[in-house]
Amino acid sequence: MALIVQKYGGTSVADPDRMKAVAENVAYTKRHGNDVVVVVSAMGKATDNLIALANSVSSTQPGRELDMLLTTGERVSMALLCMALADIGVDAMSFTGSQVGIITDTAHGKAKILEVKGDRAREALQQGKVCVVAGFQGVSTDKEITTLGRGGSDTTAVALAAALDADACEIYTDVTGVFSADPRMVPQARKLAKINFDEMLEMAGAGSKVLALRSVEFARNHNVPLHVRSSFTWEPGTWVTSEEPSMEDPIISGVVTDVSEAKVTVLGVPDQPGVSAALFEPLAARNVNVDMIVQNTSTEGHTDISFTVPRSDLKVAQEVVAQVAVQIEAKGVTHDNDIAKVSLVGAGMKTSPGIAAKMFRTLADEGVNIEMISTSTIRISVVVAASDVELAARSLHTAFGLDSGQAYSAPLPERK
Ligand code: ADP
Ligand code: ASP
Ligand code: MG
Repeated sequence: MALIVQKYGGTSVADPDRMKAVAENVAYTKRHGNDVVVVVSAMGKATDNLIALANSVSSTQPGRELDMLLTTGERVSMALLCMALADIGVDAMSFTGSQVGIITDTAHGKAKILEVKGDRAREALQQGKVCVVAGFQGVSTDKEITTLGRGGSDTTAVALAAALDADACEIYTDVTGVFSADPRMVPQARKLAKINFDEMLEMAGAGSKVLALRSVEFARNHNVPLHVRSSFTWEPGTWVTSEEPSMEDPIISGVVTDVSEAKVTVLGVPDQPGVSAALFEPLAARNVNVDMIVQNTSTEGHTDISFTVPRSDLKVAQEVVAQVAVQIEAKGVTHDNDIAKVSLVGAGMKTSPGIAAKMFRTLADEGVNIEMISTSTIRISVVVAASDVELAARSLHTAFGLDSGQAYSAPLPERK
């Protein structure tokens, strides 16, 4: 008997019909002789709606209370799914992250999983039940309810699959797999049959939201193969595994776009030792995820430092930077929300020179201005104006030979 962990994202459980369709698939899997652990996300845009609700009553939003609020979205889903399963004769039990023993650190809003106990899941499985777990949440070492960051249900699923030593971890979503680019941004994107952990890690790190970054880290560290597939067409999707790419694989696997960051610029910073540390240490202490950093050449002993942060961290970043700017006698601070990051990812980059040059030439020919650049061994990222993101992504997709030759035709469900 195999143990299968199935994760269903927000669009997959967005309404009663979807919930029933998911229940049917769980029942099908169970009736084929498998033990099943299901991880559910909040229905449709429920998490966004809860955030909007919080924004409408408070600008302070203590992390503990926000997490208490946001975790309710997944609770609704898990209970409804168990009810739908009961109707079709499947014995199922729902558990919050806390009940199933997902122990995290204390960083509200972006908690890291430290341990998965999983005892109650094991007990339920032993009793022949389907175990339905609320994604995106855990309980901290201080016994407080925490959330794992946006998209965190993927991480719940992979962590449970690792802890329970599952035979498969299926991530059901609203596209048919991992594509060479976000098919909503680049209609010519091609579905990848497989991709390895390193490339998927770079894609997730570059901001592709098809899988949450931490879920891929977890999958790689515990060698949990993932099958990303559609809960709308149920067709086989993309396997994410440790398999090394072969010579025949394309140099570039994908183009990634990310419109969730903002750029902060500290103007007129004295160009002297210790200034960058003075700026970035307090940001780290407040758990702000700084991504790209650019320091200009100095003129008359002063320089500008720009960096990007998730927009959700911008408020805290601005607070911190405003204080530091005074201390280090910088001339001012600005921020820009209208930016996008466009990245090329491919394991073949390690051995193929000239990728960056071709990327920059392609963007130049389209008149797209590059504001920042960063690289890893298998990724090149640039920051451009938000209004250029589609043009940049599509032209790079074509220039690097990734187009499928046809607009992606499988049904793309409307985002709720
Ligand atoms: P879920 O709610 O199921 O977790 P998400 O919205 O978090 O779904 O992730 C799925 C979405 O990721 C897709 O609808 C698609 O727009 C987006 N996406 C971004 N990059 C890619 C990619 N390379 N391949 C497939 N989907 C992608
Ligand atoms: N509901 C959470 C979110 O919208 C977690 C998830 O869907 O993975 O971010
Ligand atoms: Mg997601």
